[in-house]
Parts: sequence; structure tokens; C-alpha cells
Amino acid sequence: MAKIFKDNLTPKQLSHLFEDDDKCLEFLAELKWEQGYICRKCGNTNYCQGKTPFSRRCTKCKKVESATTGTLFHNCKFPLSKAFYIAFNVCKGNEEISTYEFARRLSLRQMTCWKFKTKIQQAIEEMDNLTDREKLVMQKILTN
Ligand SMILES: [Zn+2]
Repeated sequence: MAKIFKDNLTPKQLSHLFEDDDKCLEFLAELKWEQGYICRKCGNTNYCQGKTPFSRRCTKCKKVESATTGTLFHNCKFPLSKAFYIAFNVCKGNEEISTYEFARRLSLRQMTCWKFKTKIQQAIEEMDNLTDREKLVMQKILTN
């Protein structure tokens, strides 16, 4: 994720990259379990594929964890690809995009965009050290 930020992709390229929700899930899953899988419930490290795309199921306690669990994208009520679009634009911070503009670009309600943008911004603000803001934000997204 940090790499993608550093490559400085334009929003257009980013939206292309995350054009479908499965790609977002795959992306989250890769980052989330980059260091290996550990069951959040029992600590087991063996898993099998869950029923939903990119979810993992503990072989011991059968607990299923989705790729979004424990991230800012969990329980997102609109398409993940759109949530990614907002998150990346807010994190990159090159230009301030209003929630009205997000709503227009993504065909979402302004309030929906506002809520999610605020969530991302709060995650940014909660970080004490913002020197490598993008990286920290992504850590936050992964561990929130
Ligand atoms: Zn388990």
C-alpha cells in the first residue's frame, strides 16, 4: 500500500487500480496477512479459504475473518472500490476534495462520503507522528 502511495499515482490511475471490489479485498487481504495469518480468536496460524472472497477460516476454531475485519473498510455500506478511492485521495492529500465532489464523482450521497472521509481523517489525526503520514495511515487502516 505504501508503495502505491509513493508511486504517486493519479486518482484516475488509482480508481482504475481499484475498479472492482474483489481487487480491493485481495489487496487488503495481502496486506493484512503479509506477515502470515493468525486467528484473532485463538491464535492458530492454519487457515482455509472462507466462503466470501479472500476471507480466511481458522482450521481450529472455525472463526471466519474477512479481509476488511479490523480495518477502516469494515462494515462499509457502499462499494469498497469507492471507499478506496476516498481513502487514497484523503491520505495522499495533494488536493482537498470536498465531500460534494466525492459524491459527484462516485455517485454516492454526500453524507456517505462525509462520514467516510471523516473516518479516514480521524485516523490520520490520531497518529502522533505524521512524518511518514501515508505509511502510518495505512498501518492504521490495517489495525484499526
Ligand atoms: Zn481460531
